[in-house]
Amino acid sequence: MNAMDRILVVNAGSSSVKFRVFEVTGPQSLQQAISGQIDGIGVRPKLVATGPSSEVLVERNYEAGEVPDVATAMRTAGAWLQSEQSLNFLAIGHRVVHGGPDYDRPVLVNDKVLHDLERYVNLAPLHQPNNLAPIRILLERLPRMPQVACFDTAFHRGHGPLADRYAIPEGLYIEGVRRYGFHGLSYEYVAEKLHEVAPDRADGRIVVAHLGSGASMCAIRNGRSVESSMGFTALDGLPMGTRPGQLDPGIVLYLLTEKGMSPQRIQTFLYGECGLKGLSGISNDVRELLKSTEPGAALALNYFVYRIGLFAGMLAAALGGIDGFVFTAGIGERSAEMRSRIAEKLAWLGAEIDEQANARSEVCISRGEGRLRLYVVPTNEELMIAKHTLSLITRTPSVGSGLMRTA
Ligand code: ADP
Repeated sequence: MNAMDRILVVNAGSSSVKFRVFEVTGPQSLQQAISGQIDGIGVRPKLVATGPSSEVLVERNYEAGEVPDVATAMRTAGAWLQSEQSLNFLAIGHRVVHGGPDYDRPVLVNDKVLHDLERYVNLAPLHQPNNLAPIRILLERLPRMPQVACFDTAFHRGHGPLADRYAIPEGLYIEGVRRYGFHGLSYEYVAEKLHEVAPDRADGRIVVAHLGSGASMCAIRNGRSVESSMGFTALDGLPMGTRPGQLDPGIVLYLLTEKGMSPQRIQTFLYGECGLKGLSGISNDVRELLKSTEPGAALALNYFVYRIGLFAGMLAAALGGIDGFVFTAGIGERSAEMRSRIAEKLAWLGAEIDEQANARSEVCISRGEGRLRLYVVPTNEELMIAKHTLSLITRTPSVGSGLMRTA
């Protein structure tokens, strides 16, 4: 194995570009070498990166105008990786939120694929344009560099028709109005990891709760997604930091007709002003809400826990029972208190939390041989993207020849 074989993973959002460098240590094994990001794009841009032992490799501030957008942030990070770290890459993997109806697995990007993916900008207006910006710029600057798009929707594309449909006329389904589901890279990682950390339940009926600033839940059977709390866009399902989750569509009509809000205004409202932030009137951050003594904070947290309980019931029904419940992402991985409160809502399904194991964030946090096991599995979407990227270029002879030489 050539020690210089590396994969770059890029996760570009509206105000930050996160990147990870993985070294290829075997035909299917990867080791993280660098984790970095540029955040504060257009406001107070800052490049920070750390090495394998979390040592700081760079911490650099820029003027707002020096890094005004995601494309420039990508160029800035790329210049640091190439000129100062002397790193070159076998391939670059990207997180892309929406793959639409057709992209049900990772794909090598070319102009046609990029053009197809631009059609889904309206389905993920905050994420998709930013996800695609680095791909476009890299296609122009490094046309021979293999780039792989990995989709948050892909893991759910195997859903049966009942889980994939809305009760609306067929024509809209055909043109792509479907229940896609998101956070698929996280769920795929967790489903794989369960085989390692909980092999006796990994092929059972599992509900995973990805609780970060975006939040959703997924029903998994035999390692495959069968149902999701999210749908056509990443607005549906659980309440999130700033998104409302499940909402009667009549409310959107009300905002349009009675409040005179424009579609653009409604978009900003639904993506940025609702959820924990809107309900509490205080913050979108669970840490702050847990600290607050305001009644709005308690209401928002109670609502979040209550809705997770409701969706657990729905997803257990989709699975015909439940053997395991997994907590992941920021809140799920780090807040023992929230896990404990959510576990209470799962008592009727057979959950009994072990508070000591919970306080230590152990893998299994349920007691004894309870019917429903509770797990904490830290997610790693970037590693999943790197794995997909390596696997795809290895399987594509024209692209992977350099790698095959050294593998
Ligand atoms: P993102 O969803 O943006 O990728 P994360 O999965 O890291 O990010 O989740 C971020 C959220 O996790 C924050 O908004 C915060 O509410 C929550 N969070 C992070 N740490 C804690 C903690 N110790 N206790 C409670 N909530 C936390």
